[in-house]
Amino acid sequence: MAVPLFTNTRQHEAIKEEIFAAIGRVFGHGQFILGQEVESFEKSFAKYLGAKEAIGVSSGSDALALILQALNLCPDDAVITTPFTFFATASSILRIGSTPIFLDIDSKTLNLSYDKCFQFLKSCRRNKSGQPIDERTKKTIRAVILVHLFGLAAGAERFRKLCDKYNLYLIEDVAQAVGTKDIYRGGLKYCGTFGVAGAFSFFPTKNLGGAGDGGLITTNNENLAIRLKALRDHGQKRRYLFEELGLNARLDAIQAAILNVKLKYLDLYNSKRRYVAALYRSLFKKFGLNKKIRLPYAPKITELHSYHQFVVRTAVRDELQKFLSENEIGTAIYYPLPLHLQPAFSHLGYKQGDFPESERASKEVLALPMFPELREEEVEEVVSKIARFFKVRRR
Ligand SMILES: *Cc1c(COP(=O)(O)O)cnc(C)c1O
Repeated sequence: MAVPLFTNTRQHEAIKEEIFAAIGRVFGHGQFILGQEVESFEKSFAKYLGAKEAIGVSSGSDALALILQALNLCPDDAVITTPFTFFATASSILRIGSTPIFLDIDSKTLNLSYDKCFQFLKSCRRNKSGQPIDERTKKTIRAVILVHLFGLAAGAERFRKLCDKYNLYLIEDVAQAVGTKDIYRGGLKYCGTFGVAGAFSFFPTKNLGGAGDGGLITTNNENLAIRLKALRDHGQKRRYLFEELGLNARLDAIQAAILNVKLKYLDLYNSKRRYVAALYRSLFKKFGLNKKIRLPYAPKITELHSYHQFVVRTAVRDELQKFLSENEIGTAIYYPLPLHLQPAFSHLGYKQGDFPESERASKEVLALPMFPELREEEVEEVVSKIARFFKVRRR
């Protein structure tokens, strides 16, 4: 049985009447960019998350770049982030002229290591206003971009406290973790509400996927929201009055209308992902594979993970991927080359060996089929094929 890594057709089949009605409504009024559809989606999204403001934009990548620009990050500034993430997390920093500073990940969670961040900041010289200076680049560190990778909460409250101590902005990259909660004062609240702003993506494969590119920024700061609304639209605050340079980074009305339909089902979709993850775990155990395959970190509180991806680790990753591909099981490698070794970032001066945990992860990770509509027999097929692989290999 062939099992796809991802498909959204099953999801859309179930709600296509609602989606087509929403698209029809947009054709009825003919306002295709921003307007009432986007405002209505921004309102529902802010309400869902418990954020004061939501600003719809063209993509998650633009969301990050707009946040950095709105915070007045400049070429003398640096931003700490993880090298084990999608390219856009770090390219957004370079796009606005600042410099990324990579720190290694926690091998258990694959998220940015709090301890490494803590130690690094402690070791930095500080300027007159108390801001840390990066010794290597001589740049002033102004922010941390915390990525909730694969849908797993990265411990935003701790990072927020650390950032406050060093007068840094905490920016959350929530592209893979829409609907994930993180620990807050002994309770929980949604990722994307911990820092000064959160960047979301509605790329079709994300947990809340549109029918094209789309993104959104959350913030509790009203002035920042006003600035961001101008910046996503060429920097105009009033029509044809341009106070500064912005981008053309607006959200389309059709995307907003579709996303507004799908937002209602997001919690259901995420709970189905958690069910699939739990099924994987019990089957890996049943097949006695837990010694051969390292499963993704399982937080005790289920809301802390929304399983954007189900990523396992093994030293024989490439062999296993080949075997699964021959058996028509879709897999993918997120990410095969950590960002500090990407050609586009070579001028930053990093080298092999700088971030051993990220480098090791990039050689061992394998994403297995994961989406809310994945069927039980498909999960069983994936795990039994993996069991078969290890059996054949031993011979
Ligand atoms: C997808 C993604 C982005 C970029 O979002 P786009 O909407 O594709 O521009 C940024 N960061 C992470 C971690 C992502 O997974």
